[in-house]
Amino acid sequence: MSENMSDNMNENMSMQEYIEEAERDLLHTYNRYQVVFDKGEGVYLYDMEGKKYLDFVAGIAVFALGYGNRDYNDALKAQIDKIIHTSNYYYNVPAIEAARKLKKVSGMDRVFFTNSGAEAVEGAIKAARKYAYLKDGTTDHEIIAMEHSFHGRTMGALSVTGNPHYREAFEPGIGNIRFAKLNDIDSVRELVNEKTCAILLETVQGEGGIFPAEESFLKELRKICDERDILLILDEIQCGMGRTGYMFAWQKYGVKPDIMMCAKALGCGVPVGAFLMTEKVGTHSLAASDHGTTYGGNPLACAAVSRVLDLFEENHIIEHVRKVGAYLEKRLDELAAKYDFITERRGAGLLQGLVFDRPVAEYIAQALKDGLVLINAGANIIRFVPPLVITEEDVDKMIEILDGALSGSR
Ligand SMILES: *Cc1c(COP(=O)(O)O)cnc(C)c1O
Repeated sequence: MSENMSDNMNENMSMQEYIEEAERDLLHTYNRYQVVFDKGEGVYLYDMEGKKYLDFVAGIAVFALGYGNRDYNDALKAQIDKIIHTSNYYYNVPAIEAARKLKKVSGMDRVFFTNSGAEAVEGAIKAARKYAYLKDGTTDHEIIAMEHSFHGRTMGALSVTGNPHYREAFEPGIGNIRFAKLNDIDSVRELVNEKTCAILLETVQGEGGIFPAEESFLKELRKICDERDILLILDEIQCGMGRTGYMFAWQKYGVKPDIMMCAKALGCGVPVGAFLMTEKVGTHSLAASDHGTTYGGNPLACAAVSRVLDLFEENHIIEHVRKVGAYLEKRLDELAAKYDFITERRGAGLLQGLVFDRPVAEYIAQALKDGLVLINAGANIIRFVPPLVITEEDVDKMIEILDGALSGSR
C-alpha cells in the first residue's frame, strides 16, 4: 500500500504551516487563536511545539473529567473493540444503561440521545409543539424564549436564540418565537397567551454573559406553566452536568422542567447530547416516526455517557465543584477588587464570568501567550469553565497568570 504523505501528519510541518493550511481548507467560521493543541493531560493542554497550557475552558465546558482520564479512555477503547454503531432500529446496552443513569441523576423519565446540543434543542422544540398539537389539534403554537440566550446554530435552535446578530442573515427562522427578558416575570406574562406551548430558557445563561435565572423567576415560570399547561423547557447544555455545584442547575431551586436539554460535558468530549422529559410529556408528544437520528445514542457515545456518569459519582464531582467553585469565586472577587476596569463577577460554581468595562480579547490573547487558556462570553466578559476536576492550586496558578496579563496593561 502506498502512502500519500500529504494526507498524513507530516513530522516536518510546523504549527504555523498547519495553521496556514487550516485557513485555506476549513470554512472560515471562527477567528481562531493561533495555536494547534495536540494533547491533553489532566487540566493541561500541550500545543504541537510542546508548550504547556493550564486549561480554564475545557473545550467550552466539555471536558469535565480532565484529559487522559484512564477509566474514561479505557471504557471508550473497550467499546470501540466491541461495536461502535448499530442503528436506532435495534436496542443497544450502552444506550439503555446511559439512559438509566441519566434518569437517576435528573429525575426525568424519558431520554432521547442526540449528537449535539443544538439537536437536543431541536428535539425539545418538536416535542413541545407536538404536545400542544395533541391537545388542541391546531398548529401555530408559540414559544417564549429569553433575550441574550444562546441555544445553538441550527435553524430551530437559532430561532430561539435571543441574539439578533446571530439570527439576522438567516431569517426567517422557524417562526412564532417571542422573546422575554430573563428575570423579568412581567415581560413573560405580557407574552403568554392561549397559543403559548412552551417557555424555554437556560437556567444559567452561558454565551450571553453568565446570567443566572433567579429562584423567584424560575418559580413564577413554573407556576405560569402549571396553571396553563405550558411546558417549561430548561437548557442545561452548558450549566448542567455538575458545573454549578448541582448535577443540573435547576436542582438548586427544585424547579423541575417538563423538558430539559443536556450536552457538552455529557460525553466529556465524545459528541453527544440529550433531551429528557417527564412521563407526561413523553407519552403525549413525540411518537414512533415523529423523530429520529442515525447516530444519536450510538454505542460509542453512550458508553462515554455511561462512564462519565459513573465517574461523577465515584469521584464525588458535585461536592468537589462546590468546594473549588467557592474558592474560584473568592479569588475572582479579589481580582475584581484589584482592578477598577473589572466591574463585576457573576456565576455559579465553576461557571463564572468576570465583567470588564472594555473588550477582553487582548487579555485572553496575553494569557494564552503566558500559558493559560481562557475564553470570552460576549466582548467584555472573561468566562471561566474549567474541567470540573481542577484544584485550588490550579485556581491559584490561573489567577497568577491572569493577574500578570491584566497588570501589564494598566
Ligand atoms: C453550546 C450550547 C448549545 C449548543 O450546543 P452544540 O453542541 O454546540 O450544538 C446550546 N445551548 C447552550 C446553553 C449551549 O451552551
